[in-house]
Amino acid sequence: MTQKVLISSCLLGEKVRYNGSHCLITHPIIKEWHQHNLIIAFCPEVAGGLPIPRPAAEISGGAGKDVWERGAEVIIKPLVDTNANDAISPDVIVTQAFKAGAEQCLALVHQHQIKLAILKAKSPSCGSETIYDGSFSGKLRVGEGVTTALLVKYGVKVFSELQLKQAYEYWLGL
Ligand code: SF4
Repeated sequence: MTQKVLISSCLLGEKVRYNGSHCLITHPIIKEWHQHNLIIAFCPEVAGGLPIPRPAAEISGGAGKDVWERGAEVIIKPLVDTNANDAISPDVIVTQAFKAGAEQCLALVHQHQIKLAILKAKSPSCGSETIYDGSFSGKLRVGEGVTTALLVKYGVKVFSELQLKQAYEYWLGL
């Protein structure tokens, strides 16, 4: 089996998350793919030009598919005056950076003929089942991130790190 697997960089221990951390997963399945040199690591937000660390972003007005098809935007939470509890800066729209990173990810997928990705759960880029709902209140909604939506559109099967066994079974069948 030589099918390569795309994996979110943060799941491989790279400190690329918005807060400068990683979320390394250590699992025999990942180890096996590593041993066979089958893993391609990618962080779409960093590839799209966003810094580390960076403010947390959420999709406003939908999920990843809506960003591509219906004008939903990826925004950064405004600063809040804690006394007045009012926003004192406007939303910062970072949709273009998210789209640019997703397009680079798709190019990588085509280059390596990748059919399977393991992407970080709940991320506005990488989420596959749920994402934060745009209210910056910790609430989730059903839907995928911006990169996941693009990859799925082009036929890539996307699992989260919580679905490694299903991902491995899918990979075995490729
Ligand atoms: Fe980068 Fe995706 Fe990890 Fe966020 S979840 S840090 S975009 S790889």
